Amino acid sequence: MKVVKFGGSSVADAEQFSKVKAIINDDDERKVVVVSAAGKSNTEKIKITDLLIKLDDLRLKKADFSEVLNKITDRFLKVKNDLKINFDIESEIKIIEHNLKDCSSDYLISRGEFLTAHLMAAYLGFKFIDAADFMTFVDNEIDMQQTAQKFSKLYLSNERVVIPGFYGIKDRKIQLMQRGGSDISGAILANILDADLYENWTDVSGILMADPRIVSKCKRIDSLTYGELQELSYMGFNVFQEEAVQPVRIKNIPTKILNTNHPHSGGTLVVDTIKRNSKQLITGIAGKKNYTIITVKKYQLNKHLEILQSVLSIFQKHNLIVDAVPSGTDSFRFMLPQNELKGILNVVISELKSNCNLDSVFVNDNIALIAAVSTELSSRPAIAGRIIQFLDKSLINIRLVIQEGSDMKIVFGVSNSDYEKTISNIYNNAVGQ
Ligand code: ASP
Repeated sequence: MKVVKFGGSSVADAEQFSKVKAIINDDDERKVVVVSAAGKSNTEKIKITDLLIKLDDLRLKKADFSEVLNKITDRFLKVKNDLKINFDIESEIKIIEHNLKDCSSDYLISRGEFLTAHLMAAYLGFKFIDAADFMTFVDNEIDMQQTAQKFSKLYLSNERVVIPGFYGIKDRKIQLMQRGGSDISGAILANILDADLYENWTDVSGILMADPRIVSKCKRIDSLTYGELQELSYMGFNVFQEEAVQPVRIKNIPTKILNTNHPHSGGTLVVDTIKRNSKQLITGIAGKKNYTIITVKKYQLNKHLEILQSVLSIFQKHNLIVDAVPSGTDSFRFMLPQNELKGILNVVISELKSNCNLDSVFVNDNIALIAAVSTELSSRPAIAGRIIQFLDKSLINIRLVIQEGSDMKIVFGVSNSDYEKTISNIYNNAVGQ
């Protein structure tokens, strides 16, 4: 059986709903359907989740929210009326309206998925199962065992059901996942049900090797490994949530990224291992701009772990999440998104300088990190050298090179202004031949 997840753009309006129905009707094995909240489409310019966030903000400020509430209501009513869906969405919206005085933000924001799933279930003639009845958080993570146990009481094998993504339950209260979290909900269901395939339907025909806004005519990645996908998602690809990889990876459930608007145009298959014969050096390139690199130096730093500890405690005190790499016996580099340091960079630097007994502290701002990802890198470490050579030829000033412990990616740090040039250069030399 297949678990299929439809993203926001796939369920944005009546036309998209009908495409989903055609896809479902095409294959009896598509039994468990997970949906996001109605998103953007040709006719709809704003995601329901964003409208709900706005609604939440207005009601907390005690401002007038009637216009936003009407917009949300109209969108669901339009889908219902256009498709003549026999479901009393009006009553469901009334309940939400009634709860507006004292409900939590997570409850309110999750209603996009809740209402979309109800409409979709009625439209397809499938049973609705609420994620709040089984998707269980313990601390901030889904407890797979409890979730599976509760789900088995709600789901009869072979049943066809629709389930809202993006939220679960924690201590009897609705808890949201991160943005784009329906990918995670779908992956968890695929895991629990030992699905033969997890289909993730989006508005792109698979994952491209690089950002098509930078590389025109960018090739598609036909297949890649879970590890490669995780690295690419972490480094900025936003087709599939990074945290959705693990649930399918541990059960080795093949996962496909497909396009609701072009269901037969192929997509990207994600699997455990791939035998590649091509001469292509890398699988994909992803990157993020606006990083700050803080380099700390101390003679024989590798022998003074107490110093490193005091450096880390300063980052911890400011709640900063850092990627750290040793860069020789005397120095360590820390990479942080620039916006996390906004307003506190000077404080952090002066604390590092005065509290840690370091020889020096350097800051490099406006750095872009670009990752070239491939499982081949472990068996062909010289690939890093080749990429450096052709970047050097193009006069790109590489500030930093990290070959990750996973052996699956090389990260280059360049100035923000060299970001696009570096990506197209790596693509043209390492992929595009
Ligand atoms: N609707 C949520 C969002 O816009 C979750 C999702 O799409 O998976 O992020």
